Amino acid sequence: MLGTGFFLRWMAAAAASVDREAERLTELDSPIGDADHGSNLRRGFAAVAAALEKEPPGTPGAVLTLAGRQLISTVGGASGPLYGTLLRRTGKALGDAGEVSPGDLAEALRAGVDAVRALGGAAPGDKTMVDALVPAVEALGESFAAARAAAEEGAAATTPLRARKGRASYLGERSVGHRDPGATSAALLVAALEEAADA
Ligand code: ADP
Ligand code: MG
Repeated sequence: MLGTGFFLRWMAAAAASVDREAERLTELDSPIGDADHGSNLRRGFAAVAAALEKEPPGTPGAVLTLAGRQLISTVGGASGPLYGTLLRRTGKALGDAGEVSPGDLAEALRAGVDAVRALGGAAPGDKTMVDALVPAVEALGESFAAARAAAEEGAAATTPLRARKGRASYLGERSVGHRDPGATSAALLVAALEEAADA
């Protein structure tokens, strides 16, 4: 079973990973965006880590809803409301249980990813974070390691795609040949799950 501590470790590992990789995420956002994805997420996840440290919530669901709220209120770019919605909706789906099973988490994350799709209108293949999140959720029933591998594969597979959503879509054909920054950061969040489980 996964308790509140697991979810606190997940968010702490995600914040550390985003902080380590922020320059790379911003570099990816240069040719097909406005070069702010790394700084956006670094600011957002620093706020998440600070809020969770200040007043650690008592349930897995409350950890994720607080984290989601922080992302929505501190990240200006498109990714803030999208990741905020992902975590808030996932947290809501976990309810007020003190512990959840990996299967519960997989089901809740599926609801979270569905909410991201509803908010942003992106489907798999549109060259967005959805391209990493959808395969990750599908593989999560197997293991955290399988989810990490699926997310990384999904992110790498965005390179040859033409963007159909978000800022990169303004470039049309010129978005081809660049890896999507949001799919790359989504793979970091999924990889952080495995780190939280190993800790
Ligand atoms: P902005 O584009 O406002 O500068 P960011 O740079 O922080 O925001 O985030 C860009 C990332 O957000 C993209 O790489 C993409 O993965 C994701 N994204 C943008 N629009 C959408 C959307 N409609 N649905 C899903 N993901 C999206
Ligand atoms: Mg950007």
